[in-house]
Amino acid sequence: MNARSILNADLHCHSVVSDGTLTPEMLAERAQRGGVELWSLTDHDEVGGQHRAAAAARVQGMAYLTGTEISVTFAGETVHIVGLGFDADDTALRQGLAATRGGRAERALEMAHGLAQVGISGAYEGALKFVGNPDLISRTHFARFLVETGVCKDTNEVFRKYLTQGKPGFVPHRWATLKNAIDWITCAGGVAVIAHPARYKFTPNEEYALFTEFKTHGGRAVEVVTGSHSVQESIKYAEMAKEFSLAASRGSDFHSPDESHTDLGTLPYLPGDLTAVWELLEDRIQ
Ligand code: AMP
Ligand code: MN
Ligand code: MN
Ligand code: MN
Repeated sequence: MNARSILNADLHCHSVVSDGTLTPEMLAERAQRGGVELWSLTDHDEVGGQHRAAAAARVQGMAYLTGTEISVTFAGETVHIVGLGFDADDTALRQGLAATRGGRAERALEMAHGLAQVGISGAYEGALKFVGNPDLISRTHFARFLVETGVCKDTNEVFRKYLTQGKPGFVPHRWATLKNAIDWITCAGGVAVIAHPARYKFTPNEEYALFTEFKTHGGRAVEVVTGSHSVQESIKYAEMAKEFSLAASRGSDFHSPDESHTDLGTLPYLPGDLTAVWELLEDRIQ
């Protein structure tokens, strides 16, 4: 496969293995319908869906790269690092991800406690009903419970009122370090990518530090075109990619037909003057 000829790559989405609502097989079918040529399933802190996703991509006649999205704490914020094209059976990567997942259950109980204090009871049990993988209870599952019970009209409202910094259901979590996440991905043969950089509430200095440290530790790409970037933000991060000599990635971050605004395969293509991350991963494409 000639990676340079690929335009419609979608290298970021979630299945029921983390906080998406579709199975890997349903996502593969949807990606194929969206015209995706090269696909990756990037569940949060988990590679348990990778063999299913690769097989489903084969059934659909799509090329595939392994993927995950690792939660990292950097400068007091949660940053997401996508890994692409690694060996999904790598022991150190699997152990690192298992450790990252470990604190989620305790955090979820604390979140439920915070919500109970503002009169929302039973949130832990309620969120659990939406969980496909008990190791991966996330804020998204609490959001679905609060929508189901009519407390909020959609998940965005739940995050705004209950699940972000300073709100009653918000509990900060200590995730992996930036260096750990990049090492796990790189040592397993993959490429580390800064996910949706415009989403972080960093000062310009903190953002510069993130990109600089990311490069120092061996990170090689940044998401330029993603479901959570405006056109202006894509232009900004295309410039940052050039400034830091990073390759560029493209991915919808699709979670659910009911919740996600950007469907698989529908984003604009990467600007032509950037190196696409899949050009670095030609020999890892399945
Ligand atoms: P967690 O890993 O438990 O902290 O949950 C983070 C997840 O919440 C992200 O991966 C998104 O899927 C989801 N999320 C974050 N912010 C929002 C938002 N404003 N609206 C809807 N979903 C969000
Ligand atoms: Mn998510
Ligand atoms: Mn993310
Ligand atoms: Mn994501």
